[in-house]
Amino acid sequence: MRRSRYFLPTLKETPAEAQIVSHRLMLRAGLVRQHAAGIYNWLPMGYRVLDNIKRIVEQEQDRTGAIEILMPTIQSAEFWKESGRYEDYGREMLRITDRHEREMLYGPTNEEAVTDIVRQTVKSYKDLPLNLYHIQWKFRDEVRPRFGVMRGREFLMKDGYSFDLDEEAGRRAYHKMFVSYLKTFQRLGLKAIPMRAETGPIGGNLSHEFLILAETGESQVFCHRSLLEKSIPEDVDYDADLEPVVADWTGVYAATDEMHDAAKEAELGDDLITARGIEVGHIFFFNTKYSAPMKAEVVGPDGATGPLYMGSYGIGVSRLVGAIIEASHDEAGIIWPESVAPFRVGLINLKVGDAATDNAAGDLYRRLQAAGVTVLYDDRDERAGVKFADMDLIGLPWQVIVGPKGVAAGQVEVKNRRTGEREEMPLAGVVARFA
Ligand code: ATP
Ligand code: MG
Ligand code: MG
Ligand code: MG
Repeated sequence: MRRSRYFLPTLKETPAEAQIVSHRLMLRAGLVRQHAAGIYNWLPMGYRVLDNIKRIVEQEQDRTGAIEILMPTIQSAEFWKESGRYEDYGREMLRITDRHEREMLYGPTNEEAVTDIVRQTVKSYKDLPLNLYHIQWKFRDEVRPRFGVMRGREFLMKDGYSFDLDEEAGRRAYHKMFVSYLKTFQRLGLKAIPMRAETGPIGGNLSHEFLILAETGESQVFCHRSLLEKSIPEDVDYDADLEPVVADWTGVYAATDEMHDAAKEAELGDDLITARGIEVGHIFFFNTKYSAPMKAEVVGPDGATGPLYMGSYGIGVSRLVGAIIEASHDEAGIIWPESVAPFRVGLINLKVGDAATDNAAGDLYRRLQAAGVTVLYDDRDERAGVKFADMDLIGLPWQVIVGPKGVAAGQVEVKNRRTGEREEMPLAGVVARFA
């Protein structure tokens, strides 16, 4: 993409309404613009990041055997009356009446909707296990939308739902999701810590939240220091029993405010971390809470009919854009992890109008693209200082800087945005370096 023809409205000034760094940077780097309170337009760069996150979430879900579908944003109140949540959900639910006076709502979550699909289609234990997920916009009429996309009213969520014959199989499904969440957040460059959590309006008794530590987090969290050093191997076998992996993580102390235990914390001494956290994911196992009232039942191998055992699994896809920035930035701007960066390389032409520099930069631009490298080419007729500041602000992982002196010597400069390291390298070697 040529910067001169792109739609990337960056801001020099810090917008006054933004209280936290990720919100400020998202506005300044031209990722989003507010439409109304808690409702955002995604501009091209922000949309690319959102899409990259979405793709990683999909890949990691698919690996577990979960299957992607797409359910509507607008739901019928009828299903929520069946589950008993229509009244309970309260004012966070945006209720809508259509022209025929039918009660509708903008979905805040999809347990009822997906249970309705499954009860219509799944009749036998032979159709199980089943895990259906979608990535769809949600609406929750938050009392205090704030921090940009971090607490929006409209936000993008991955929500998945598992269906099993009995409690034991349901727990296996929960363990798969637990592990796949660790992998997903790891690929996004985040250290997300699973913590025992309250289940809230979703219900059930087994639940973990995944939180990343950040000063601006809205949750108070407590955990053992060692959890920050833990990681999950790349090649998880989802057919294996994952209970030991889950036990290994949950055996170490970690709890949110609502669940914490002061006595256990006192025992940890210096190993205790008390911090703020951002909730980026939340998983629940709730047995037959929805399947029983909604009559989602199957015939088991013994010929007896019984309700399905269900879990639900959410990831805050749009919140993650803000959360990744909270975890990865410096005074100059955003530092995107390679896995989600809107472009991998920012190519800077230091002297637009100088034929040799234009040729060298233009040629690199074409060759990088041909090699499948995503490039944002700053071909604007601007001062070098402006271009450097802008490139640091938008946070692409690599900068390739082409100037007249370098070109004369057949050299360019390559800068790593994260470390700040700069390296001279031959023009001829650049494509091979990134391809
Ligand atoms: P919170 O505690 O932040 O209000 P929640 O516990 O109500 O979140 P869940 O019902 O667990 O949210 O939804 C799953 C995920 O969706 C959350 O872990 C979070 O990442 C994301 N999410 C929830 N509410 C919002 C919101 N208002 N804006 C952006 N993302 C959200
Ligand atoms: Mg909430
Ligand atoms: Mg919560
Ligand atoms: Mg939650």
